[in-house]
Amino acid sequence: MSHTQLLQTILEEVKKVVRWEGFDGKRVDEAVKRVLAGIDVVKLHYLENCVGCGACAPSCPYFYVDEKYSPVNKAEEARRIYRKKLTIAGMILGPLVEARLPKNEEDLDRVVEFVYRCTNCGACYTACPFGIDSGALMVLMKSFSTVVGRVPTIMAFLEAVERLEAYKEIPALVNAWKNVVDQINRELGRVVELDRKGSKVLYLPTLIDVISYPKAVVATAKLLDKLGLDWTMPSEPIGIRPPIAVVIGLSDRAKIVLKRVYDYIESIGPEIVVLIDGGFVYPLLRFELPIRLNVKPRFRVMHIVELLVESIEKGRLKLKYVEDKVTWHPPCQMTRRGGLTIEPEYVLKVVSRGFRRLPHHGLESYCCGGGGGIGCITFEFIEAIAKMFGVDAKQLISSDKERRFIEETEKAYKIALKRKIDDIKKSGAEIVVTACPTCMRTIALGAKLYGVNVKVLHIMEYLYDKI
Ligand code: SF4
Ligand code: SF4
Repeated sequence: MSHTQLLQTILEEVKKVVRWEGFDGKRVDEAVKRVLAGIDVVKLHYLENCVGCGACAPSCPYFYVDEKYSPVNKAEEARRIYRKKLTIAGMILGPLVEARLPKNEEDLDRVVEFVYRCTNCGACYTACPFGIDSGALMVLMKSFSTVVGRVPTIMAFLEAVERLEAYKEIPALVNAWKNVVDQINRELGRVVELDRKGSKVLYLPTLIDVISYPKAVVATAKLLDKLGLDWTMPSEPIGIRPPIAVVIGLSDRAKIVLKRVYDYIESIGPEIVVLIDGGFVYPLLRFELPIRLNVKPRFRVMHIVELLVESIEKGRLKLKYVEDKVTWHPPCQMTRRGGLTIEPEYVLKVVSRGFRRLPHHGLESYCCGGGGGIGCITFEFIEAIAKMFGVDAKQLISSDKERRFIEETEKAYKIALKRKIDDIKKSGAEIVVTACPTCMRTIALGAKLYGVNVKVLHIMEYLYDKI
């Protein structure tokens, strides 16, 4: 298939899901069914037991943009549907007990607005005295929003590119992967055998890792060699940031990509899979993969910071000591969702005497505001992706309504991230170290917008010359 035909196929795929104008009753019915199908016993607790105390509100990065974006107010969108379809009072009394289905364009527009004011950071979950996870309810509503067609074209585009593996046909992306492998071989002074079956460790960088922080990808290979591990890595990317479909709430499509990742891992047969992305990829591959695919993996998924801690504690790794004024920004997914609350700080304290915690750290750390796909909904990002794939940026914005949505979302995003930047400023750090490409882009953008002079690095990029 030629490049033009391939792009045409992707744009056709995108057109099948994106619909920003009008109200289609059939699509709404299907989307309501999707929401109801996603309600399990845990979500039933989230839907039933909120007392409206508001304790979760201050934890939300978007509550500071506008109080209407409080977790409980956003989650009310899911509760209205639930009450209407699954409670006796809701079925009989309807709007009198706040039970109703979205019934016009205005309702659909409000749902998509609320959905893209939630990063699924989990901060409301840990703040709620009843452990109610409004982020999980917004993920349900995200699948509603996508099924009715209110999905950002840029997200639908990236999802299709990943699912159809079209990134393998884009010379710039193929070269980015090849260059990083060449650089690894040069640094190690040997040729790494890629896709080697039977390796004990499978190092699994994604395409986004390679594009965002190639130095971190190389540093990890250096570390694996230094530790004397029997490792390999893929000869080509298994996904852009697999599976992107989860970010727009399409679990069926996510399963296709996840299965591809799982099959590849199984074909190698490692004991350990090492990731360097601390965003949604980490909890997804580590905790959700067995449930989503109904499999019992024979491998253990580790984030690179876990391997660092283990190696330092067992005396297998000595790192160069410095005096940098460095801090750690905890990506919500590996921290609140994944449980790695102390490991990265442990490593940084071993490396630098100047390490300082952010005023809000660990479970109470502030979300940067860019997760859940929000960091991709900016004109700058859309233009960069359009250029990378050789499409006109106008093709990645379906209508004036979507354009207004992008404008409003970008405005909200730039306000939401300020809280994080203020926290970084208070810490006095000159270097912010983290492990998620979205957090890195968001903090770098915030530092530029609000005039804070900090370097933003992936933890392995930071450790490159200290290994
Ligand atoms: S803290 Fe929990 S109970 Fe209180 S409003 Fe938020 S979700 Fe509801
Ligand atoms: S998960 Fe995070 S962004 Fe979403 S509602 Fe809760 S606190 Fe806000």
